[in-house]
Amino acid sequence: GARGRATRFAPEQREQVLGSLALGADLRRLVAGDPGAGELVLLFQPLVSLPARTVRGCEALVRWRHPERGLLSPDTFLPVAEAQGHGAAIDAWVLREACCAALAWPDPTWTVSVNLGRSSMVDPGLAGTVRAALATTGLPAARLHLEITEHDQLPADAGVLALHQLAADGVGLALDDFGTGYTSVAYLQRYPITVLKLDRSVTGPDASLALLRGLVGLADALGTTVLAEGIETDEQCARLARLGVDAGQGWLFGRPVPTDRLGDLRPQPAGAATPEG
Ligand code: C2E
Ligand code: MG
Ligand code: MG
Ligand code: MG
Repeated sequence: GARGRATRFAPEQREQVLGSLALGADLRRLVAGDPGAGELVLLFQPLVSLPARTVRGCEALVRWRHPERGLLSPDTFLPVAEAQGHGAAIDAWVLREACCAALAWPDPTWTVSVNLGRSSMVDPGLAGTVRAALATTGLPAARLHLEITEHDQLPADAGVLALHQLAADGVGLALDDFGTGYTSVAYLQRYPITVLKLDRSVTGPDASLALLRGLVGLADALGTTVLAEGIETDEQCARLARLGVDAGQGWLFGRPVPTDRLGDLRPQPAGAATPEG
């Protein structure tokens, strides 16, 4: 093993580690106070039905408006937050904010999707946290979707039970980034998944047709909705719609924006997406 061996960092790795340490201290400050006190920001990206391209909901995507470093992407700070044990606190803030924002959206049928990190997925208090967010905001359970992703180890039973309880309440459950991991199929058995979200890496222009057909067939067999992430072009959209993909998300339909910009969303023209192509 690596025990006792001196670790040397390349200069850029050293930068990264020192950067994470500083970020860690800032994060502790952030979570100790009210995370909503201006520094955490939520953006929302539309999810559309295919082939019509009408908006069906939005995914909440968190950003950190850092006083010195500017707007930070979740990939920069969420892993640090998780390692510090602050992941669930941030998710809980996002959950309340997102439920609250969804109540003011132009269409009261749009769903709101919220991502859960690993610590939320194993949190025995998860069902309570989610039910409290729904109860205090008044958002109907059916308008909330939770998104989970695969992790190295299968999450503990408490979290699995919580997600079954929430599913029984009517909350939707999406398996995110499907097609990137190795054990996602085990998640399909373990969780009451209602939406399969195909990762950008399997929906791109070079994606295998056979693989896509298989994944759509899998979703059909399981009775879940299948949504393709990372749709950037009309051709890609048309191809995925032809294959039977039910829904899409990507820059073609809209980038993540603050909630007050969602009013600008208009149904998109059908473009290259022919019904039953
Ligand atoms: P994700 O859940 O798979 O979210 C989709 C990511 O793809 C978002 O990145 C979005 O901006 C990006 N994206 C959407 N459409 C396109 C497209 O057409 N092309 C390309 N190239 N990218 C596109 P973002 O916002 O940087 O989020 C990254 C990841 O961070 C998310 O991946 C999610 O796993 C995680 N995340 C974001 N917000 C939260 C949160 O509140 N809690 C937790 N636990 N995780 C979060
Ligand atoms: Mg997601
Ligand atoms: Mg995703
Ligand atoms: Mg993804």
